[in-house]
Amino acid sequence: MLNIGCHLSTSKGFMGMSRDALSIGANTFQFFTRNPRGGSAKAIDPADLEAFIKLAAEHHFATLLAHASYTLNPCSADEKTRNFAMTAMRDDLERMERLPGNLYNFHPGSHVGQGEAAAIAMIIVQLNALLKPHQTTTVLLETMAGKGSEVGRTFDELRQILDAVEHKEKMGVCLDTCHIHDAGYDIVGNLDGVLSEFDTIIGLDKLRAIHLNDSLNPLGSRKDRHAKIGHGQIGLEAITRIINHPALRHLPFLLETPNELLGHAEEIALLHGVYQG
Ligand code: FE
Ligand code: FE
Ligand code: ZN
Repeated sequence: MLNIGCHLSTSKGFMGMSRDALSIGANTFQFFTRNPRGGSAKAIDPADLEAFIKLAAEHHFATLLAHASYTLNPCSADEKTRNFAMTAMRDDLERMERLPGNLYNFHPGSHVGQGEAAAIAMIIVQLNALLKPHQTTTVLLETMAGKGSEVGRTFDELRQILDAVEHKEKMGVCLDTCHIHDAGYDIVGNLDGVLSEFDTIIGLDKLRAIHLNDSLNPLGSRKDRHAKIGHGQIGLEAITRIINHPALRHLPFLLETPNELLGHAEEIALLHGVYQG
């Protein structure tokens, strides 16, 4: 079965998001844990959460993906910025335990000058302070396009972080198809090669979710501009191979394409049509 959904607006609450998901043929969704630009988080409504947990079980929802605010920078050279990321992520992870067993994805961050090695060391410090042995949430590093001084453009950078985290069993990777394409991994011409490289460096068992996006820009452009499915440089043929690949087809696929709900419904229908069930 194709596990697919898209990014939905958290302001509607879990029941609102799940109704939207069901209305577009999705069985999962992604949501921001707090205001994506600022830092504030709305209090969880227990009745909303409880109703959602029931509905998700009834409709066999797949694992959900929470996304940390993309303005958090856990590897900033500025200590205050790093501490802010730490506080926000700690709070996010506490809230995530109210919805046990799901995924929490974050951007490793941008080193803005102090260099990649120093930045990677900072991310490791943060993760080792955050991860708790009893948590049920799996924390995912997102593969990045390498725009500016973004950390996480190469599988090797992600591996260095994963290797040094104490609670390795709580960690995984979310692969963004637009990002790795823009980072220079040729998922159009050589998907098998890219996945075997991922397996050698990180391990395919660490791959827990896919951000399914087409890309406006060419391979290796380091740009990170998402396109609608089939309207970018990756194209529907390559995306069809991605969702059907034996190493990927069981994973949750989350669309972050520039669409409203109706556009996402059309993409989900298109993808269901090319998925070899
Ligand atoms: Fe992201
Ligand atoms: Fe993404
Ligand atoms: Zn992106």
